[in-house]
Amino acid sequence: MKRAPRSHTRVFEVFRMDDDRYERQKRLWDQRKISSLRVLVGGAGALGNEVVKNLVQIGVKRVYVVDFDKVVPSNLNRCLFFRRSDASKRARKVDAVAKRAPDLNPDVEVIPVFGDIKELSEEVLRDVDISLGAFDNVFARLVLNLSCYTHNIPLVDGGMEGTYGMVQVVLPPDSPCVECGMTDRDLENMWERVSCSGDVVVEEGPKLPYIPMTGALIGAVQVMEAVKIALGLESYRSSGRWNDSVGAPMVGKSLLIDLKTNLCYTYELHKRADCNVCGI
Ligand SMILES: [Zn+2]
Repeated sequence: MKRAPRSHTRVFEVFRMDDDRYERQKRLWDQRKISSLRVLVGGAGALGNEVVKNLVQIGVKRVYVVDFDKVVPSNLNRCLFFRRSDASKRARKVDAVAKRAPDLNPDVEVIPVFGDIKELSEEVLRDVDISLGAFDNVFARLVLNLSCYTHNIPLVDGGMEGTYGMVQVVLPPDSPCVECGMTDRDLENMWERVSCSGDVVVEEGPKLPYIPMTGALIGAVQVMEAVKIALGLESYRSSGRWNDSVGAPMVGKSLLIDLKTNLCYTYELHKRADCNVCGI
């Protein structure tokens, strides 16, 4: 049988290249690992929206998104999955995210978990490979930190305020945890907001500034760190080497970025001997 000229074969290859949603990222990594990844996202606000968007676009297997809050109009400047109709009927944030995520990529299962992170089920924790923290309060971050550390789940924690954002990567059982990275003042502020029943007291008062650009940047860093862990952890555990294509995650470090000055710092954290979670 006569073979097609080489130029025709090349044209067909080019056509096929554009048929595959993941073709361009497959040039960087093994998509099978990403497509089998099960992720927990704590928080469905500004950062949670950005994190879920990235996870859905790269095509992970499953995303659990946890939050107890409902959509209000002032969320709409920074949460790409929310609509005015969600705010008018005070829809659950997790439901709005799960409802719109399939528009971006129907391959990914987004499971809404409406409720407090401290009531997260063992079933969910046992099902996830990696967790991403996207909360706006210290108490919830510490609860997720404790759950992840005790279940040996890598955690990429993120936070932001105004033009300023941070990301910390926690890899149990060796790295320092989120609590180790907190100052005494952070912890004092948190306890002032927690009632004796263990619930966070929501106070009416000045709100913190939030803009979508900071969330987009921090959410991107968080998901990239999660990808580095997903693609490299097995090799790191066996040979001490991370995946060369995507690089090593910043385990035990914290990254600080200020969009006002464009300054960016990474600094080492150390386990605190008196840490309630990972203390020696
Ligand atoms: Zn610790």
